[in-house]
Amino acid sequence: MAETSNLKETNLNQQSSSNPALNNLLKKSKLYLNTNQIILIREAYTFSNASHKGQLRKSGEPYINHPLSVASILADMKMDAVCIAAAILHDVVEDTEAGKEDIEKRFGLEISKIVDGVSKIDKNIKFLSRNEAQAENFSKMLLAMSDDLRVILVKLADRLHNMRTLDCLSKEKKLRIAKETLEIYVPIALRLGMNKLRLELEEISFRTINPLRYKIIVKAVENHRGNKTKFLSGIKEKINDRLGDLSIDADIYTRQKNPYSIYKKMKKKKLSFNAVFDIYGLRVVAGKIDECYRIFGASHNLFKPVPGKFKDYIAIPKSNGYQALHTVLFGPNAIPIEVQIRTKEMDQFAESGIASHWQYKTGGHSSAQAYARDWLQNIIEMKQNTSNSIDLLENMKIDLFPDEIYIFTPKGEIKELPYGSSVIDYAYSVHSDVGNKCTAAKINDIDVPLSTTLSSGQTVQIITTPLGKPTPSWLEFVVTVKARTNIKSYLRNLQRQQASDLGLRILDKALHDYDTSFTETPYANIRRLLDEYNLKDEETLFVEIGLGNIVPHLAAQNIAIKKSFVKQKYRDLVSKVLGESRKDNIAIKGSEGLVLKYARCCRPIPGDNIVGLTSSGNGFVVHRSVCRNIKKSKSKKLFIEWSNEVSGEYQTQIRVYSEKQRGVLANVAGVISRLSCNIENVKFDEVQNPYASFVFTIEVRNRKHLADLIKELKKLKNINKVMRTVG
Ligand code: MN
Repeated sequence: MAETSNLKETNLNQQSSSNPALNNLLKKSKLYLNTNQIILIREAYTFSNASHKGQLRKSGEPYINHPLSVASILADMKMDAVCIAAAILHDVVEDTEAGKEDIEKRFGLEISKIVDGVSKIDKNIKFLSRNEAQAENFSKMLLAMSDDLRVILVKLADRLHNMRTLDCLSKEKKLRIAKETLEIYVPIALRLGMNKLRLELEEISFRTINPLRYKIIVKAVENHRGNKTKFLSGIKEKINDRLGDLSIDADIYTRQKNPYSIYKKMKKKKLSFNAVFDIYGLRVVAGKIDECYRIFGASHNLFKPVPGKFKDYIAIPKSNGYQALHTVLFGPNAIPIEVQIRTKEMDQFAESGIASHWQYKTGGHSSAQAYARDWLQNIIEMKQNTSNSIDLLENMKIDLFPDEIYIFTPKGEIKELPYGSSVIDYAYSVHSDVGNKCTAAKINDIDVPLSTTLSSGQTVQIITTPLGKPTPSWLEFVVTVKARTNIKSYLRNLQRQQASDLGLRILDKALHDYDTSFTETPYANIRRLLDEYNLKDEETLFVEIGLGNIVPHLAAQNIAIKKSFVKQKYRDLVSKVLGESRKDNIAIKGSEGLVLKYARCCRPIPGDNIVGLTSSGNGFVVHRSVCRNIKKSKSKKLFIEWSNEVSGEYQTQIRVYSEKQRGVLANVAGVISRLSCNIENVKFDEVQNPYASFVFTIEVRNRKHLADLIKELKKLKNINKVMRTVG
């Protein structure tokens, strides 16, 4: 086995390619990847090269050189072979005939997913409205969208190479790309701790956007270099000698501030060039952590430290995992010198951040997401061991794997929503009217139910109509406070409206018992009643009656009392003599949803004789008059009946007895849905040998509808009995 792989390796080494970009990549990859991994990279090259055949970059060189260079950048970071291969293929789907499926077939799902992820970023970025405020959200969106962080790493390397080869583009395009880089990619690199890559992106962007300032600063740096080097090498020597005495092995570097960070510092702190540039920097890189602290002690011993400038980022790492000791020393002539002390590992981390994590774990890996979590976990543990700054950890987690999702509006703006948000949450985030009138929605131009859960990067369009209105079922899936409050307040108003209507009808009916009506009642009587109950106005009175908080007959007696005295005695006589039966019942239309509930014990449907029971503060519960709970109940009864205009569907239950046999359930369900009833629930009830009994909870329009259904069910073979359940 070992022999064959050695053989392969020799063959590979002999195959020299005519493409220097490929040779360069292979040379770098062979430093840390095994033979099989190199074969994968070659295959990716062959496929990508064939796909991009004939395409040229703006500079005139073959297109394939771009993906190869991107892959090289990642090979410098020692990324795994899958990532390198994906980088070589990253523009294939977007720019050539080959599709996502071709890549998946040849290279597997892992690589095709990364390539697809990179193409998606390109698509989304085109879609983004050119609005600066959106940039920050966009970079968060990218992180939220990628379940594989290698997508982001390939994209960052892609951007870096594009920036390095910016010169062939038009001035306008250059500016746009440089701006986009500063706004979107630099913050991502920063968040992932990839400082080396970030500094280069910043540098090129700055040079492109502000060529003049760049030149001036570079020139000034040149002019100062001589003095500076001399000054620093003196200090370096002193520290070196001391470390020799202590037999600590460490490397000391002079730090060069780059033009962009000088510019930023001048701008941010409103300092002159000299004030910024006169800060000198040294970096000491040691082998072990305890050496860092010893070096730190030694340097404070050699030079006086500037008070308050010491920071221990080893004990308390920065939120992106950065670790080092920072201090500022007074050099000769009291010139301040910034010193950073860290281990080699920390130094590597400070350069390439999350990418450095891959280096220590090549081969035999499971998923890239696991890497990222692993990396994050390392930082978390690091912090937990050394400090209590849990807040920082939380921030870190949120930054990398946001608890938010990012959604495009049809205009290309980005909205931030909590994880798990539905279409309705989005609608309310646009405007409460949009939420309240929302009737349909599209995600990426496809119709979806309003309860659909959104995910980052989707474009959502809400369709509103003047008749649209919230329903209580929305409360089951919305997650945002705004949506919840708006829906609840709408429903409360609606309930108030319904309670008011019902209350007026009940009160008027109660007044009929005193042979009068609400319109005939003198206002003074009503006023007196309102004062007695401490109510604001008539509408509040109706609402309180409708909700069952005020007993209608007491209220009626109170305001109609005089009239009724006069006429009461005739009432019985009139009906006795004339046989007149008054139409006293309140008619139920089925649209009183929030103040009338239908009892679960007897499940009344239109056509049944019904009675209402007050349920204090919540309106009324409608029971069938045969329900045994009516007789038991002590609450006030309300005499009601179904209106002729009753509409809607009502839940009821039937019990079906059948010979225990397969397929019965399916047959019954078939009949039920043929008669356009909804089945809410089916329960296997009990066995009374040889019969099985099922209870179906169904929705019907009325008694006739139910009777038709029962008749049809009885026709089925193997059905012995069908009956409606009674509460
Ligand atoms: Mn590219």
